[in-house]
Amino acid sequence: MKISKLTGKLSLKNDCGLSVFFIGVGSAFSKIHNQTNIIITKNDDHLLIDCGTCCAKALYEYGLNIVDVDNLFISHSHADHIGNLEELALMCHYIRNKKPNIIITNDYKKKLWKESLKGGLAYSVENNKKIMKFDDYFNQIKPVRIKKSPRPVYQTNVGSIDVKIFRTLHIPENETNWKKSMISYGILIDERVLFSLDSKFDTDILYQMLQDYPTIEYIFHDCQIKNGDVHAWYDDLAGLSDEVKKIMYLCHYSDNYKTKDAKADGFAGFAEQGVFYNFDE
Ligand SMILES: [Zn+2]
Repeated sequence: MKISKLTGKLSLKNDCGLSVFFIGVGSAFSKIHNQTNIIITKNDDHLLIDCGTCCAKALYEYGLNIVDVDNLFISHSHADHIGNLEELALMCHYIRNKKPNIIITNDYKKKLWKESLKGGLAYSVENNKKIMKFDDYFNQIKPVRIKKSPRPVYQTNVGSIDVKIFRTLHIPENETNWKKSMISYGILIDERVLFSLDSKFDTDILYQMLQDYPTIEYIFHDCQIKNGDVHAWYDDLAGLSDEVKKIMYLCHYSDNYKTKDAKADGFAGFAEQGVFYNFDE
């Protein structure tokens, strides 16, 4: 895997195979990093993972217009992951006259619309009294459930990119049953790169995925520097085996991250924003 900084404008295509670009690596409230939203590119194919409140501006600063995004996946409904979805939907609908593809289960589609997007998107700008729906703005790519227990895993494709999503535990604190927790998903790309996205320290799903997909090369795991049970606490992650830690980059970190030395603690390091992780080089 080769790591290289973005030079020039960010593109949704490449000629180097599977690549991960962190738009940001920060926590929801970071003031020095963008929020942890990610672009996967693989030759002519791409996928935006999450679209938080700062996503469109961050992409603009990288030289990319958010309306150029054709494929996206949303992990859960916190604003640092969905805050710019309304902008994306409106710009695509009214300016580009297109519907981006969104990987989303039926359960989450209903919740995302009803609890978050409906207020800003249901009323048509065109004064034709049409009540707009989720499907007026997005093409749903419905992933197929491939594993029922102990934790559901779903699969689909975006062009040549294989996508598997799995239920995570994020909130509430101290909840250990995924069925009782807020809907949240992690994602596995090409059975090679695993992203926890927002998850508490949850070895059940981590070990399940590592066991089911021994081809996993790297893990990008969210972390919180201070003790807590919303994201994986740094010190809990530091207690994982050296084998797991050496393929684990940390992301979604708060601005006090320099109080920790991830490499000295056995991790691959802190993920960096504005940087490509190229898996075929
Ligand atoms: Zn969250």
